[in-house]
Amino acid sequence: MAKRLSTTDLLGKLIAFDTTSRNSNMELIHFVRDYLAGYDIKASQVKNEDGSKANLFATIGPNVPGGVVLSGHTDVVPVDGQQWATEPFTMTEQGGKLYGRGTADMKGFIACALAAVPLFVAADLKKPVHLAFSYDEEVGCLGIQAMLPDLKKHIAPPRLVVVGEPTMMTVANAHKGQYVSKTIIIGKEAHSSRPEEGVNAVEVAAELIRYIGTLRDKARDNGVRDEAFDPPYTSFNIGPIKGGSAFNIIPNGCEFDWEFRSVPGDDPAKILGHYQQHLDHVVNPRLKALDPACKVENSVWAYLPPLIAEPGCDAETLALALAAKNDTCVLAFGTEGGHFGSIDFPAVVCGPGDIGNAHKPDEFVEISQLDACDTFMKRLAEALST
Ligand SMILES: [Zn+2]
Repeated sequence: MAKRLSTTDLLGKLIAFDTTSRNSNMELIHFVRDYLAGYDIKASQVKNEDGSKANLFATIGPNVPGGVVLSGHTDVVPVDGQQWATEPFTMTEQGGKLYGRGTADMKGFIACALAAVPLFVAADLKKPVHLAFSYDEEVGCLGIQAMLPDLKKHIAPPRLVVVGEPTMMTVANAHKGQYVSKTIIIGKEAHSSRPEEGVNAVEVAAELIRYIGTLRDKARDNGVRDEAFDPPYTSFNIGPIKGGSAFNIIPNGCEFDWEFRSVPGDDPAKILGHYQQHLDHVVNPRLKALDPACKVENSVWAYLPPLIAEPGCDAETLALALAAKNDTCVLAFGTEGGHFGSIDFPAVVCGPGDIGNAHKPDEFVEISQLDACDTFMKRLAEALST
């Protein structure tokens, strides 16, 4: 039997693995695998293509329907360019708070789940606890998408998935969807003094960005509204853009990322369809006429389905009981919860810490939040052993 580690001990260990999304998470995964093995729990891994990252899932108790999945992502956002008062990958305790990258988002929840393992093992579980830890959540939820088929295949249908993103231990039952696209424009290079000989890809990008602006205005002024959200409509953003090489060369290429965050009642396919139609019927025919090699292509490279509330459903009722709360709330940010919804695993979001501290320098979680999450885990062990 492994030496019993407290939530704080475990969080300190998890923080020390620099699992910024661009890095491998294998050291952390091996740590979790070995920790679980210390309790005779066999963990399965689902690796990415080059084997540098893995998801991990495991079942404690009988693999029968009606269990609860504890879900967390193992990656963290970069600390590049941020001014930290503490060392980001060494957990530091100060004034009832634990500082470090990932303390709130979301290794705090993973630490609580792991610290409760001995409790789950000792309880006479009638229904199982499943652990599901993913990679690459912060860069488009890539890990969870790779793991979903295995979860669906190997885990008996659960009663509830708890996605432990920081909600201050409130129960969130809905969030917006998020769809991230890349638009690539192929133009034609020429000397800037000979505009008729080139096709300026940066100019086409500017035009498309203006077009996305019209989609944004339409969604804001006349689109689907859901007053539970702030803002209560589907919102848009243009992200990084790159193109051109010198002021005196007509750029032959430009690409930019853009996203929208749709309220649960809105139809993402319709928004993407409008944009694609504009490319197919307006922009591409015009470019092709200038030069057959010129074109625009758009692809969605990351998406997060909305988490859609089912007020009063069994999953939500159980989550409220475990968190000892009366009411649910909605989230302004996306989570893996929407992906679980897409395989009919009912999900809520509930975890320790404040999303307001996440992604920032001096990220922290209050120890009282971890205590509340530990209590949540105790109630869970009781709920599944009766
Ligand atoms: Zn997160």
